[in-house]
Amino acid sequence: MSEHCADPDCAQAIEWLHAYMDEELDNSDLDAMRGHLERCPPCEDAYEFEVSLNVVISTKCAETIPPDLRDKLNAMVAGGSGKSTDSPADP
Ligand SMILES: [Zn+2]
Repeated sequence: MSEHCADPDCAQAIEWLHAYMDEELDNSDLDAMRGHLERCPPCEDAYEFEVSLNVVISTKCAETIPPDLRDKLNAMVAGGSGKSTDSPADP
């Protein structure tokens, strides 16, 4: 039978889902989570759903950034770390 997952491992897996996505799990938890996703398709589906949801959210956010702000961000990225027009190191 392939019903909804009802064993305690699944509750744990769902609880870990976000930490797993953010790579915030300990190594041992990470192994357990990976193993569970491999043998539990419903949890794997849930994980993949969360991942695709995240992609949609970040895409939408990128689209709703106002052009001004996007230009500013681009300028920051372009001229941020290496090179600057006026040098902050005064004599
Ligand atoms: Zn499961």
